Amino acid sequence: KSAVNGSGNPRDFVAKMKDGKKRLVIFYGSQTGTAEEYAIRLAKEAKAKFGLSSLVCDPEEYDFENLDELPADCAAFFVMATYGEGEPTDNAVQLMQNFEDESFEFSGGSRTLNGLKYVVFGLGNKTYEHYNVIGRRVDAALTAMGAVRIGERGEGDDDKSMEEDYLEWKDTMWEAFAAAMGVEEGQGGDTPDFVVSELEAHAPEKVYLGEYSARALTKTKGIHDAKNPYAAPINTARELFAPHSDRNCVHIEFNTEGSGITYQHGDHLGVWPINPDLEVNRLLCTLGLYDNQDAVIGIESLDPALAKVPFPVPTTYGTVLRHYIDINAVAGRQILGSLAKFAPTPEAEAFLKELNTNKEKYYAVVAEGCLKLAEVLQLAAGNDIKQAPTPGNTTKWSIPFDLIVSAIPRLQPRYYSISSSPKLHPGTIHATVVVLKHENIPSEVVTKKWVHGLGSNFLLNLKHAVNGEPTPIFDTKDGERVSIPAYLIEGPRGAYKTETTYKAPIHVRRSTFRLPTNPKSPVIMIGPGTGVAPFRGFIQERIALARRAIEKNGPDALNDWGRISLFYGCRRSDEDFLYSDEWEQYKEELKGKFHLHTAFSREKFKPDGSKIYVQDLIWEDREHIAQAILEGKGYVYICGEAKNMAKQVEEILAKILGEAKGGSAEVEGAAEVKLLKERSRLMLDVWS
Ligand code: NAP
Repeated sequence: KSAVNGSGNPRDFVAKMKDGKKRLVIFYGSQTGTAEEYAIRLAKEAKAKFGLSSLVCDPEEYDFENLDELPADCAAFFVMATYGEGEPTDNAVQLMQNFEDESFEFSGGSRTLNGLKYVVFGLGNKTYEHYNVIGRRVDAALTAMGAVRIGERGEGDDDKSMEEDYLEWKDTMWEAFAAAMGVEEGQGGDTPDFVVSELEAHAPEKVYLGEYSARALTKTKGIHDAKNPYAAPINTARELFAPHSDRNCVHIEFNTEGSGITYQHGDHLGVWPINPDLEVNRLLCTLGLYDNQDAVIGIESLDPALAKVPFPVPTTYGTVLRHYIDINAVAGRQILGSLAKFAPTPEAEAFLKELNTNKEKYYAVVAEGCLKLAEVLQLAAGNDIKQAPTPGNTTKWSIPFDLIVSAIPRLQPRYYSISSSPKLHPGTIHATVVVLKHENIPSEVVTKKWVHGLGSNFLLNLKHAVNGEPTPIFDTKDGERVSIPAYLIEGPRGAYKTETTYKAPIHVRRSTFRLPTNPKSPVIMIGPGTGVAPFRGFIQERIALARRAIEKNGPDALNDWGRISLFYGCRRSDEDFLYSDEWEQYKEELKGKFHLHTAFSREKFKPDGSKIYVQDLIWEDREHIAQAILEGKGYVYICGEAKNMAKQVEEILAKILGEAKGGSAEVEGAAEVKLLKERSRLMLDVWS
């Protein structure tokens, strides 16, 4: 034991650093993996620039008592995400308590960290109210304890510019770091993180072809969570929009019977998509691996503390690109710089270097053009990105595969608000998924193209497969025909198809978006578009309760229940009105307690011709709303698009409440909205 760790205590990071001759400790507060990724990138850069090794730490796995014992030639980094309404991520709760609780002491018997050198990078989202508060709080606590920050605190905005914020911050930070640590650039070198080897003989049943865990491969039972998703059979999948609509919305039901998975109304469903065939083939061709895609490979980490192999091995080249890494995202500026030296021609190399260093050009060509990594490589080499990629029409780049594994982040699950209640639908989970597609912004080098959301198009493909429908094509508004990206649904084991069913890997993420327990409390739900999803679950939950109450106490059992109002909006009643065939029955079952208010934005207009949105209906109903909230102690829920809709709905609520209190929206109304949030009587489930 002591050979691995001098003190024998696995929670002692200082001992681990000494043992491994590491001079940086990098803690990350991460919920979905993004902060962890940035922590690893900082570690890699410290190595490449200065030859300094780091210990990348999940704070949950270490004690903080001896942070004051960090040697003077070391530094501590904190890469901290802010989650939800300004909370720390689950793995950083204890760290925050230690830093902020006056009774916590370091091993020296005080709360001082005199002279400790530290760096902070916060990850947040400007759409939410408490932007980057955790990074700021860590920074303030460390300064208060006598630690000294190196450079400026970095802050990334996940809504828009995380990558650019990081890139902009890190160069000046590293300059300050070099000065503070007395080190010089150029002492590192390109050391790979992984060794990839092709395995000659390997038992096929031990090769991962898309499974996410050893249990999934060996089919042994275990708890299903984000680390071990469940391959759930699909009971049914259907289209919710009218055939004449130019958009799709998939209603899909997963069977969880016998899986041990439970959920509550308002929880989120994580679905693990795969990459579309076109992009898998494109990258296989640019890497020269198309003909070798089924070769079995093993991958080993050269420094497991710095870089864990991010997916299970052994596997195949093809599986890595299809199932495990995110090759479908817009290419980042930094990776283009690091791949330039593998370019097949000097022109291609110059093209990548230019995109890496010229921010404006990167933005215009790659970001606005929505180019994926393999598309940029093709473009740089003069290939036609509109042609179906083959080894014959795609220039090969000699990029080592280990670099692909370390530079491209792992494919993450996509989350959807669950649209059912387990009380009405035990053993099944429903999701309501609008299929995302938009056009890029063309430039001199990139022509117009459609960009398709990864997760929703994967589910659309599954829907077609489940129903035996032909390869789909959709017509856009201009009559242009664009095919939906195809996914390998019928493929090998990893595609989770059995003889009788199609499956997809899922897990449930708990949320706090819940109805009040007492049905007497009035409930106001605002959810235009697919924002209605959780509220279908809420209403089903109430119906289950109503059925039981009526069975027990007769038809008048709901008389003293509070009103449940749903404000829903869509374009047209005959086009994208979600679950239009269900609401009447829900009204009947809830004995008039359920009120549906609909805004059809492209069907009915105000006298001045402007659109009617949910917030206009809320304003019309203001008397009841003020009364339900202020006198009835009601609960308000908003779900849907954050930046415009949810913000405008909050403004209307502030106006209604401010006026009801005899004051203004800005003062009394805003105070009331804040109070409702603090008391969890105004809850949001919104996306940007
Ligand atoms: P949608 O069909 O685009 O919109 C639903 C209704 O809301 C329409 O009647 C729309 O009117 C109206 N609306 C537009 N702006 C509004 C505003 N400021 N206030 C109130 N109502 C407004 O909704 P959706 O298809 O469900 O999706 C909305 C957006 O969210 C899409 O752009 C989609 O890309 C995105 N989305 C993201 C996620 C995610 O998790 N990231 C998930 C689902 C959807 P008009 O269109 O007539 O103006």
